[in-house]
Amino acid sequence: MRWLSLNGQIFTGAVLGLLIGWGMAGAPDTALRNGILYTSDIVGGVFIDLLKMILIPLVFTSIAVGVANLQAHKQIHRVWLTTLGFFVFSMGLAILLALIASNVFKPGAGLDIAMFRDAMQGFQAKQLSLSEFLAHFLHGLFMNPVAALADGNVLAVLIFALVVGIALVVGGDRYRNILLLLQELLEMVLRIVGWIMRLAPLGIAALLIKLIATQDTAVLDSLGKFVAVVVGSTLVHGIVVLPMILYLVTGVGPLRFWRGAREALVTAFATSSSSATLPVTLRCAEQHLHVKREVAGFVIPLGATINMDGTALYEAAAALFVAHLTGIELNLAQQLIVFFTAMIASMGAPGIPSAGMVTMVMVLQSVGLPAEAIAILLPMDRLLDTLRTAVNVEGDMVGSLVVQKLISRS
Ligand code: ASP
Repeated sequence: MRWLSLNGQIFTGAVLGLLIGWGMAGAPDTALRNGILYTSDIVGGVFIDLLKMILIPLVFTSIAVGVANLQAHKQIHRVWLTTLGFFVFSMGLAILLALIASNVFKPGAGLDIAMFRDAMQGFQAKQLSLSEFLAHFLHGLFMNPVAALADGNVLAVLIFALVVGIALVVGGDRYRNILLLLQELLEMVLRIVGWIMRLAPLGIAALLIKLIATQDTAVLDSLGKFVAVVVGSTLVHGIVVLPMILYLVTGVGPLRFWRGAREALVTAFATSSSSATLPVTLRCAEQHLHVKREVAGFVIPLGATINMDGTALYEAAAALFVAHLTGIELNLAQQLIVFFTAMIASMGAPGIPSAGMVTMVMVLQSVGLPAEAIAILLPMDRLLDTLRTAVNVEGDMVGSLVVQKLISRS
């Protein structure tokens, strides 16, 4: 496969994975089918494990080094503000899109409610109020760093790395060696990411075979209108809104962006995990999209944990779907509550498969919708998660380019 670039191989792997998975979807249980599924499970699992293996050292070194370098250039305040401002802005647009599409097309209205009742039977959703969620979230920010590293808790590692980065600068020359060591560690970790990426075409094919072959796609038909609204508005956000912001602010066209970002987008689609994709996202931002290491090293890991356009959009759309399904009409004020809780809930969702489902309970409860309703959304979540994770990751890369441009202006 030497003649095909890594990008080409990844793309081929994804297409083959989708086709094989699709071909196997309705196939009878033969030894061949079981063998393929077993192998896909192992290969896909090992690929994700490798990405997770490198994730924590990568987050730690890239944030600490990124913050230290930015701080040294006295840019950290501006980068902070611009980054958070962009995240909130783009997630706000995503939620707005979901609310408009849901109000116009009203998915769920007039649907057979019996199906809904069946799904809810025996399903106990964990209650999660806004105040509990906030307390839990704030509590999880600061942790013993060794425990956070061992647990793979990205958010807590990120916060600790921020503090270390600031201390490195405040300490100045005194900590020169530690900074140098971290810089070299980061360099080395990125090299390992490059090795893991060689496995990406196989890993992605395997993940997609397993996903498509074992999913019950019938559920997609029964909730067709909702799926269409979610997929449609997610695509509009990913193909129109984000590229437009990117072009207006930085002048980078959609094709150039796609060429640089596709490795990460395909990996996000196949893994449904922004965290597992992070090593690839960072590599794309730095090496293909030419974002400076200190900017990418700060914006991308932060974005992978809190910037989730696709998830925010989905949570708002799902809340309105459940409202229509149960015959509850949400007024403007209630939709405003959905807007804000969807934003907080998606920021708090970790970058792992179906995480948005868990924090969505909070959005439903904020306007008095039954939390049990997620039972009806769960069966199709793995499929919808693919696209929203890709848009989550796209938002992070667009964010790094936008932030780089905005801070260089002033
Ligand atoms: N899977 C998503 C991500 O990793 C989170 C979610 O919406 O479930 O970005």
